[in-house]
Amino acid sequence: RCSAAEPALEGADGHRSACVRSAELAERRPAPAEVYPVPELPAAVGPGDRAALAPVLSVSGLGKTFPLLKGTVFKRKVGEVYAVDGVDLDLREGETLGLVGESGSGKSTTLFELLRLGAPETGRIELLGRDTATLTRAEAHRLRAQVQIVFQDPMASLDPRMPVGDIVAEPLLAQRTPREETARRVPELLRQVGLDPEHADRYPHQFSGGQRQRVSIARALAVRPRLLVLDEPVSALDVSIQAGVLNLLQTLKAELGLSYLFVSHDLSVIRHLADRVSVMYLGRTVEQGEVSAVFDRPRHPYTRALLSAVPLPDPAAERARDRVLLAGDPPPPTERRTGCVFRTRCPRYAGLTAPADRARCEQERPALVGGAQGADHQAACHHPEPTAGGGRAQ
Ligand code: ADP
Ligand code: MG
Repeated sequence: RCSAAEPALEGADGHRSACVRSAELAERRPAPAEVYPVPELPAAVGPGDRAALAPVLSVSGLGKTFPLLKGTVFKRKVGEVYAVDGVDLDLREGETLGLVGESGSGKSTTLFELLRLGAPETGRIELLGRDTATLTRAEAHRLRAQVQIVFQDPMASLDPRMPVGDIVAEPLLAQRTPREETARRVPELLRQVGLDPEHADRYPHQFSGGQRQRVSIARALAVRPRLLVLDEPVSALDVSIQAGVLNLLQTLKAELGLSYLFVSHDLSVIRHLADRVSVMYLGRTVEQGEVSAVFDRPRHPYTRALLSAVPLPDPAAERARDRVLLAGDPPPPTERRTGCVFRTRCPRYAGLTAPADRARCEQERPALVGGAQGADHQAACHHPEPTAGGGRAQ
């Protein structure tokens, strides 16, 4: 039917669409993978072989506070915002680590702390084998080229007064690359991200959103980084454009042997792109591990709630889906919290009856600990979900 005739606009109630499958689609919200081809590449390594890969990023106990200010002209400090309060990350060569968590959970702050290449307020950051607290200025300059970031909104991150050729050349010149080499690299980079090198003299506003994000990627790749940090790189793009950019990122990763730290609130994107995932809640890492382990058998009640909000492609499964609804909002990040930060909204804590069990959640901060022997899967919960059949396939 799709190839035989052009579909007519049909439908009722003033809502019509020109697709022969519109009646089926109207019944449910389709998953992104049905709307456009979400790339699926084999994982970098089989589970269990990770130890053989070179570490790219290793973060433990990272903390960052901001002063809480009051007043307009004469600001005074009245407290502290605990933006990041115990983040652990582990990323190895050729891997993609997805970082998920609701807005305000400290994802961007974590990225900025990593890219600062300085001593963290608390905790430890090891980037490409170097402790960032001990870098000299020259070492930091060299390391800076190895780690590049792509932001969510290319319109805000690209200078509107610069032709894209200059935008892509800028990091090369900052690393004192000779002019001839820069002139040779710029068209090569534009071609690599699927743009026409002839368009190097155009300005960002002359490109579409997806093309602008390609410019940001070309710019990030200019200095041949080993780690690309992506902060919601496709969230500002139309769903139909996202696929092209995600495909490009997958191809580039395979071609250039890159590692990705990929922040996204879109769990289906993470599921398809990432090898491992790390879940944050209120500045803390609450669960992490191999993607299929975390998504199919979530152990932290927060991860379960997060995953249960994703619609399922199969209509029968979608109708049977039991949603875990969380009570209330997260507490303000300005309170110093003892025990488990999630307990105020935790359905498991709410169901605990033994006073000793409750006291543990209230007083003792849960550590990230492994579940089944040898599995790459850890959760920070005193009363984790049982490992077998706790979750569901997405
Ligand atoms: P996410 O990227 O996960 O949405 P952010 O890292 O942007 O989260 O923010 C984490 C918390 O830190 C939020 O509560 C936010 O309000 C706070 N925060 C971020 N940047 C600042 C800042 N410069 N000053 C004060 N508070 C900040
Ligand atoms: Mg953010």
